[in-house]
Amino acid sequence: MPDAVGLLADYGEVYPEVPAEAWEPYRELYPELFSGPSWRLPCSCFLVRSEGITILVDTGVGPPGLWDWTAEDEGRLPGALDDLEVRPDDIDIVFLTHLHIDHLGWNADLEGVAFFPRARYVVHGDALAFAQTRPKLPHIRRCVEPLVDRFETITGDIELSPGVTAFSAPGHYPGHMALRLASDGQDAVLLADIAVHPAMLDEPDLRYVSDLDQAACAETRRAVLPELVDRDVIVACGHYPGTGIGRVVTRDGRVVWEEAR
Ligand SMILES: [Zn+2]
Repeated sequence: MPDAVGLLADYGEVYPEVPAEAWEPYRELYPELFSGPSWRLPCSCFLVRSEGITILVDTGVGPPGLWDWTAEDEGRLPGALDDLEVRPDDIDIVFLTHLHIDHLGWNADLEGVAFFPRARYVVHGDALAFAQTRPKLPHIRRCVEPLVDRFETITGDIELSPGVTAFSAPGHYPGHMALRLASDGQDAVLLADIAVHPAMLDEPDLRYVSDLDQAACAETRRAVLPELVDRDVIVACGHYPGTGIGRVVTRDGRVVWEEAR
């Protein structure tokens, strides 16, 4: 479900080691992710239902106007849930893959009150501990601090509900987690921010400035890729074009993410 889209930064700023021309093949493959020299970043969340349990994976950028980026559109998650006839109090679990500004925005309303009143808010303990070392950041102050007593912290891989397993995916943020889903013989992987740009599936060693531990990120991408490429596995990422739900295939010698139609 979409929450926001906007211009994050110039590619040269956030991938300083990558020359501009190296982006050209990806500009052709993923035109929605480019606006001139800038990275046009969609921020979507995923709703997972399993055996009567409704799980929201990440909560987006949040109410409009809070994040200092060049937003095109923000604040869509509540409407997107409404379109699915899901009310905030229908959410049983909010699973937070990590606590960057674009993944926690609807944790709380503008007053710091939990937006999903019944939900268990589940997050890795290392992510919470790291966020708490940054209490002055506005998104931590509004979306983490008021909910500290509500968070349920985990220490590693965990089955959230039947067929929905969170797994450690180190590198992008302390305690960063991704998810594997299995339903009726179909497997899926929700990448979280294992590869924030799909070019990083093709070139797992690309260094992105917001990957806190870039070596661990590259290792995590290399470890997960064999599970994704040319397999009957749905691969989803909230920062990819369209719905963010697709597959990873080899095409013309490149590893390419294609939206499922
Ligand atoms: Zn992100």
